[in-house]
Amino acid sequence: MTATALQLFNSLTRKLETFHPVHHGEARVYTCGPTVYNYPHIGNMRAYVFADLLGRTLSWKGYKLTHVINITDVGHLTDDADDGEDKMEKMAAQRAQDIWDIAKHYTEAYWADVKALNIRQPAHWSVATDYIEDMLEFAKSIADKHCYELDSGLYFDVATVADYGRLARAVTDEGEGRIEAVEGKRNAADFAIWRKTPPGEKRQMEWDSPWGRGAPGWHLECSVMSGKLLGFPFDIHTGGIDHREIHHPNEIAQNQAFCGCGSLAETANSGANLWMHNNFLVERSGKMSKSAGEFLRLQLLIDKGYHPLAYRMMCLQAHYRSELEFSWDGLEAALTRLKRLLMQVEKLKQRLEDIPAEPDGGWTLEWAHGEIGGALLPLLARFDDAMSEDLNSPVALTVLEEVLGFKKMDPVHKYQLLASMDAVLGLDLLNVTRKDLRIRPKGAEITEEEIEDALARRKAARAEKDFATSDALRDELTAKGVEVMDGDALGWEWTL
Ligand code: AMP
Ligand code: ZN
Repeated sequence: MTATALQLFNSLTRKLETFHPVHHGEARVYTCGPTVYNYPHIGNMRAYVFADLLGRTLSWKGYKLTHVINITDVGHLTDDADDGEDKMEKMAAQRAQDIWDIAKHYTEAYWADVKALNIRQPAHWSVATDYIEDMLEFAKSIADKHCYELDSGLYFDVATVADYGRLARAVTDEGEGRIEAVEGKRNAADFAIWRKTPPGEKRQMEWDSPWGRGAPGWHLECSVMSGKLLGFPFDIHTGGIDHREIHHPNEIAQNQAFCGCGSLAETANSGANLWMHNNFLVERSGKMSKSAGEFLRLQLLIDKGYHPLAYRMMCLQAHYRSELEFSWDGLEAALTRLKRLLMQVEKLKQRLEDIPAEPDGGWTLEWAHGEIGGALLPLLARFDDAMSEDLNSPVALTVLEEVLGFKKMDPVHKYQLLASMDAVLGLDLLNVTRKDLRIRPKGAEITEEEIEDALARRKAARAEKDFATSDALRDELTAKGVEVMDGDALGWEWTL
């Protein structure tokens, strides 16, 4: 039995392509990270669950993964194109706070969400402000041939590279019309590489450059950090689907200029062989936002009593290229599915004398092939097929459920197969328990001990056929927000 070739959807060609690494046996991936001016919303976190799923799949299929995620702490304007204010400076001014403190606080908050969602640590978290020198070198090397200077800064002339905007497919002057034109720009889509601090103003973050004191453009950062840490061309560049329109076409243009590359008919000329984009998490009312309506942060889900892995499950249930609509009912259903899985894992663990140890090289596909034979191999193959078909996690999840439901299976092999599949899906099924899923909602008036105690008294009353006391206890619990779940199929006696 051989592994299935990995097919991934390349946004640049709008086609499924077989993954062929640039460097034999390796996979080098760059993911556009958060702008740390505020907490990420759960839609932002979908982008990192997707990148993690991709990284895990590559590792599982035997590639030595080098993953870089950046932290944007300078340069990202309130409009992705060339208008508005720097998001970080704006927040710092609004709050009259030190910009570095803001960056630190929100970077740490983002990392907490990363951990809670069981997203693996990348090889590098590259922080934009650590690469200012490299950005200046990059900009200097392309300035003569590809840029021009205006009062407001150094601009990239998109007409100087071939196939500008191919990734977006729809970049027209009309499309860019919503952007208030900067006077003197040669093309509407031209963008700032370096932004000068306007005379009389002072930014909290600014550096000297040949084009005056100021700050780098957001697009420049990602070109510089990806090229420096992974080398051009690298394998895969990821981001949310909004980046397909402006940020990534601009990165590509800069990469072409820096590498002296021609047409994008050769995808490697873009700086990466594959450009992959996750679709949006949306709310019923439309686009997810940090300012309008309820700010859907991961912490809000936790405060309401949902384990963060229920959100990961919700993401995995949809293909990354499909739009996903968030609803509390949907999250509840994902939590129930996770509970059911964990109940089966607990039963499986009870059948094991010893918990099998993780092999040295991890629970990889190749290891599973070698270790697990016979009737189980088709399940492994189907899981591999699903993941190899552009990361089809919804199908892979159903195969994992089949494994757990499979009756005549040696428990050791069942555990190993489960471990191997979860190495890809990252639901942490080997470590999380059903009890961990029980999160105390913020503001709950009653403790677990009090609930357990009331339920024990209720059980005793029922045993003595004292239904008046039993009902009274139940009513008391209901009044404190506890739902008593007699005969629950998943063995949960109560929920808050
Ligand atoms: P930002 O911090 O705004 O740069 O965004 C971080 C990441 O989240 C980027 O990859 C965005 O493309 C992605 N993103 C933004 N909104 C959503 C959403 N509603 N659903 C999924 N991904 C999103
Ligand atoms: Zn980026």
